[in-house]
Amino acid sequence: MARESGPVCKLCRREGEKLFLKGSRCLSPKCSFERRAYPPGQHGRDAQFRRGRASDYNRQLREKQKARRIYGVMERQFRRYFREALRRPGLTGSNLLSILESRLDNAVFRLGFAESRAHARQLVAHGHFTVNGRRTNVPSFLVNKGDVITIREGSAKRTYFHDLRHMLENRPPVPEWLDLNAADLTGTVLRSPERSDIDLTINDQLIVEYYSR
Ligand code: SF4
Repeated sequence: MARESGPVCKLCRREGEKLFLKGSRCLSPKCSFERRAYPPGQHGRDAQFRRGRASDYNRQLREKQKARRIYGVMERQFRRYFREALRRPGLTGSNLLSILESRLDNAVFRLGFAESRAHARQLVAHGHFTVNGRRTNVPSFLVNKGDVITIREGSAKRTYFHDLRHMLENRPPVPEWLDLNAADLTGTVLRSPERSDIDLTINDQLIVEYYSR
């Protein structure tokens, strides 16, 4: 299970916007992007002033990298998702985001069971969740309509999950494609996520153009 390693705040600075990769830290004054909103590296600050109009290729590449980094997906898998999005009927860009959004680690994050997608990925990989009663430790597992995600019985006694009910009170509302039962710490997939459910500033058309070159 490959994943991006290294300091993640650099990724926000590279993309020129906050990608919210670190949970509560992203909302605090400790956020690196708040303090240094210029690209990382020795010449990052100079590059900020030298930036001219970006080429089409550069804009497409940056949009693809942004989406990949938000969902924590490596290039190979992202390409695989794109091929799958092409096969499905409808708009390829919307299909791609729908697939990314259907990942189990993302669903766990959207339900408020984790602070960030990276945290959700770790919780899933450690086998703390079941899908339809079966222990599932694959973060890239794609959830479908009717799937029920819950905390594994053995994990529910852990302090983190014990305190989770109180923490859920302060988490943002779950998107409409999911239903959360906070008392049971159970989430149900009501339908496939649609583009309008995804509150991210990703221009999916640029990603389609990137892979269509
Ligand atoms: Fe990005 Fe969060 Fe780091 Fe800020 S704290 S730079 S939003 S990952």
